Amino acid sequence: MSDYTQAPACTMMATTCAICDRPLLDAKSLEVGMGPECRKKYGYAAEAKLAGEEARTAANVLIHQVALDRSAQTILAASTALHLLGFNRVATSIVAKAASVTYIVLAVILLIVGLTVHWE
Ligand SMILES: [Zn+2]
Repeated sequence: MSDYTQAPACTMMATTCAICDRPLLDAKSLEVGMGPECRKKYGYAAEAKLAGEEARTAANVLIHQVALDRSAQTILAASTALHLLGFNRVATSIVAKAASVTYIVLAVILLIVGLTVHWE
């Protein structure tokens, strides 16, 4: 087994949920990098039950990475790896949530550009 304890995700603790960005308050949520409601809503519990302990630990590290760094690159890499580990719903949810944030940012930029063009 690779020494995941040296991964940046393990040396820093995620304090907000990887999916909804709300604060993580209990030990289990901090371990996973995901709050109780999102774990239930996006199938983490069911998928973690099917996955072995090693896959679950690896998935927790990936979810932490997303909680700490929401760049498209990190999200896509984590999502791909989560799919391979069998966390399909979690992987899809992470990408879907990131996409909606990206679309909101894009919409605001387009609105600002539109207003600027309108004023000239
Ligand atoms: Zn959440």
